[in-house]
Amino acid sequence: MQDKIWLSSPHMGGNEQKYVNEAFDANWVAPLGPNVDGFERDLAAYLEAPVEVAALSAGTAALHLALIECGVKYGDEVICQSMTFSASANPIAYCGATPVFIDSENETWNMCPVALKEAIEYRRAKGKTPKAIIVVHLYGMPAKMDEILNIADQYSIPVIEDAAEALGSKYKGRACGTFGRFGILSFNGNKIITTSGGGALVCHSKEDKDKAVFLSTQARDNAPHYQHSQIGYNYRMSNIVAGIGRGQMEVLQDRVEARRKMHDFYVELFEKTAGVVVFTEPSSEYFSNHWLSAVTIDPDVAGLTREDLRLAMQEENIESRPLWKPMHLQPVFADAPYYGTGVSEKLFDNGLCLPSGSNLTDNDRERIASVINKVFSKQQSV
Ligand SMILES: *Cc1c(COP(=O)(O)O)cnc(C)c1O
Repeated sequence: MQDKIWLSSPHMGGNEQKYVNEAFDANWVAPLGPNVDGFERDLAAYLEAPVEVAALSAGTAALHLALIECGVKYGDEVICQSMTFSASANPIAYCGATPVFIDSENETWNMCPVALKEAIEYRRAKGKTPKAIIVVHLYGMPAKMDEILNIADQYSIPVIEDAAEALGSKYKGRACGTFGRFGILSFNGNKIITTSGGGALVCHSKEDKDKAVFLSTQARDNAPHYQHSQIGYNYRMSNIVAGIGRGQMEVLQDRVEARRKMHDFYVELFEKTAGVVVFTEPSSEYFSNHWLSAVTIDPDVAGLTREDLRLAMQEENIESRPLWKPMHLQPVFADAPYYGTGVSEKLFDNGLCLPSGSNLTDNDRERIASVINKVFSKQQSV
């Protein structure tokens, strides 16, 4: 059996260990220190916006703190894109609030502004204005931020941007993660850069960042003894992990370029394949980091399903995966309200993510092309 080709695997740049060693040498083996400060500075500079970044233990932790800072409490409702990874929605439940799920639109696969507006109107008619809106930039594709921010402004609802998959993506020239009241980033092992595990909260004021750091370090009041007047969390990033992040920041732009080249590779590969569409930016206003390349397969035209392709690739030890199963179809969220017209369900039925790592080799691409060409030539010649 040939080596496994992964969907997305860690890709170190070379200097990560240098920063980690510096932390050991100075005994900064704690959730604070020069690497944490440096990583936060590097991220803020990369986002090219006047933002304050708090490095945390996970993207999920960043979302949780964003909700708390938006004042989300027990019994509240929070709007969330349905088509996403469960980590976008779970922190709503941590707060004792109820998620209200919104369908996708077909161009960006992200939150549909029409369904969003409808949902807010319905929830208000029932007596509750949602406390926050969580919009996701799925697979690195920017959501329709102008439309979404307009609607959010109309009802004065803060927007939290889940940019866990979209570091390096831009909408109208501006970095994803910098549009909302808060943005969140993830450095989990499968993301475009990784710290093995970690995340960040992107804030627009020092006050908001200080609050996040305070909450993430057990909410200690300013006193010589341990004094607490709020519930705290243990969510701060360690200085060791941040060292990996500093090394990764040195190569982030290369990683974005490599992922975008993988997307181009699939566009070319499927150019003449009827019934297959490679997920691509709807216009030049959108710049995706193409964290994961994905396709939709129309079985009636292509003569096979996304599951046929997935299994054929699996046989060659190549990983691929169905798109995120929408949250409103998940057993755990069965009781949550949902607004939409079935776009995300159809995407889930027909969509497949393909190997997209920045460390894939020419030989890997040949193996991928070979199985895809084999599967489709078999189908389309009959
Ligand atoms: C990875 C991911 C998260 C969670 O980030 P962690 O760092 O793994 O906690 C949240 N939302 C989306 C869309 C993700 O892909």
